[in-house]
Formats: sequence, structure tokens, C-alpha cells
Amino acid sequence: MSFNIPKVQKAAIVEKTSEPLKIINDFPVKQPEELAPGECLVELDVSGVCHTDLHARNGDWPIQAKLPLIGGHEGVGRIVAIGAHTSDSPVKVGDRVGIKWLAYSCMDCEPCRKGLEQSCLNGRYSGFTVDGTFSQYVVSWVTHVTPIPESLSSAEAASILCAGVTVYRAIKYSRTKIGDWIVLPGAGGGLGHLAVQYAVAMGLRVVAIDTGAEKKELVMRLGAEKWVDFRETKDLVKDVIAATDGLGGHAAVVTAATGAAYAQAVDYLRMGGTLMVVGLPAKANLSADIFFTVVKSISILGSYVGNRQDAREAIEIAARGKVKCHYSLKPLSELSQTYEALEQGKIAGRIVLNMKD
Ligand SMILES: [Zn+2]
Ligand SMILES: [Zn+2]
Repeated sequence: MSFNIPKVQKAAIVEKTSEPLKIINDFPVKQPEELAPGECLVELDVSGVCHTDLHARNGDWPIQAKLPLIGGHEGVGRIVAIGAHTSDSPVKVGDRVGIKWLAYSCMDCEPCRKGLEQSCLNGRYSGFTVDGTFSQYVVSWVTHVTPIPESLSSAEAASILCAGVTVYRAIKYSRTKIGDWIVLPGAGGGLGHLAVQYAVAMGLRVVAIDTGAEKKELVMRLGAEKWVDFRETKDLVKDVIAATDGLGGHAAVVTAATGAAYAQAVDYLRMGGTLMVVGLPAKANLSADIFFTVVKSISILGSYVGNRQDAREAIEIAARGKVKCHYSLKPLSELSQTYEALEQGKIAGRIVLNMKD
């Protein structure tokens, strides 16, 4: 199988964090003979847009992105070339694969050896420390791309690669078992609506926290059993405890950008409950009541995206139809408007860019 690979491509590029991004038509495509062993070139069908892309553009995180930068880390497309002298590649030219946040890990540092490759000491991150998926072609690594099953379309798979993997892993490590109550603040949002579906697929009972009739209808349709509207409730903690047999949730997966949602979770979790800390705000502190954290034997665990295995599992569950991302498809030229809408919290579900458009 061989493909016609152009010399230049369309890409969305951030030159300085203070400037708006530009769409250019003449960004160079790394040619097959230029690929290092282990690298592959992927011709993208789609790329999802994540909040992290906005932080990379704004430069407001404690760690800085490379500049100039092509953002994006929810890409799906076909491998069109693999670097010469690549040995034992698990994928081949023509395979459809996903590009996730963790583009590369060394597989030999201590975190890697312990299966925490997303915290690799030598990690490379798509759309952050290496160019990402807001371009027609992207360079990745054969050992790190995620194979996409035939039954899952590229657009359906895109947001599973970051949003889906992130909530899937957090639920997987939440120390819950079938029949337990899991509390999901922001359940109607981009990450939240996927979390509801993964939790239901894993046999958990969901308490959804969000606001508005539209989000309520969505999360209940996806299988949540209880609903708490954070704008209407007079006492959120009390309502969550009442919804969970009067004892509180067994676990909460909190993706919020403000500290308050995390402190609240410690209050509505039951004895021995687990708080999964998942949000990546630019600046926020987690303050939990120490006395009750101790007396209730609460575990507070950070969970950061997912490793290669988490990605394969999250994709597999979606391919079996258990989890569907609600997204709208837009052309790459609308990325700037998408960032603005994200900043204003106006996006329902996820935005996926059609890279062929
Ligand atoms: Zn992301
Ligand atoms: Zn490593």
C-alpha cells in the first residue's frame, strides 16, 4: 500500500500565546524518508477539540507548550508511512489509528515501568510538546498510536481518545464495584456525559450533578438514576447524600476547574469513599476538611488521562456501542470560534474538526 503524500498541508498554528491562531496552507509535511525509526505519518480524518488545547494556546498552565505550536490531541486517521528500520511495529501502513495526549513515553523510567506512562519522565505530549492533530498530517510513534476498530467511525472515536480515556481511567481506579454509587459533577458536559455512560457500562449507579432541563434529560437518558441541579438545590451535599441511600456516594469523579467542587465531594462521600481528582485548571487548590477526611477514611486520588491500555479499553467499550460521544463536526477554519465558545462555556458535548474539509 502506498499513498501520495504532499509536501505541504493545511494546519492551525499558534505562533505566540498572546496572538490568535492562524490557518496556513503551506506547513511542511514530514516526508516518509525523513521519519525516524519508530515514527509514523498519519493522514488525519478528524481531530477533537479539548479544553487543554485552549490552555496550550493561552499559555496559562504551570508548564509551557512549545512555540510555534500545532495543537490537538484527539486525532484519528490512517497511517500512510512508517520510518525505515522500524522493527516489530504493532501497526502497519493503512491501519486506522488514534493520536492521544500522550504521544510518546520512554517505557523505561520508573513511572513507565510501573504502568504510569502518562507521567513518564521523558514523555512527549501531542499538541503541547510535539505538534498535534490540528493539521492534515501528524507524526506519531508506532508503539503509541491506538488502533481503532472498524465498527467505530473516526468522528465517534476522536473524543474518546482524551475525554473518554480520562473519565474511563478515573472510574476504573475509583475503587468502586458493581452496584456502587458514583457522583459525577458536570455530568452533562463534554467529559461528564461520557463518564455517565462508562459508569453505567461498568455497573455503577450514577448521581448526576449539573444544571438545566436539557442536561437533565441527556444524563437521565444516558442512564443516570439521580439528578441534582446545582443551581436549584438549597443544599447540594444534603441532596447527594439523600440520593445515595442516606450514606453518600462511594466515589466521585470531579473534573471541575474550581476547588469548591472537590471540597464538597469530601462532604458528600460516604465512609471509605474515594475522590478522583481529574480537572486540570490553570490555578486552583484543593482544600479538604482534614478532620472529616481522616474520620471518614476518604481517599483522594489524582488521575491523569490514561496509558496505552486504558486507551484501548476505552475505545473498545465505545466500539461495542456502550458509549457514544455527542459531538458536532466543524471545519478546521472554525477552530478560533470554537476556542471562543469553549472559553464562554457555550459548547454542549464536544467539537470534532473534519480535517478533510
Ligand atoms: Zn484533552
Ligand atoms: Zn518513561
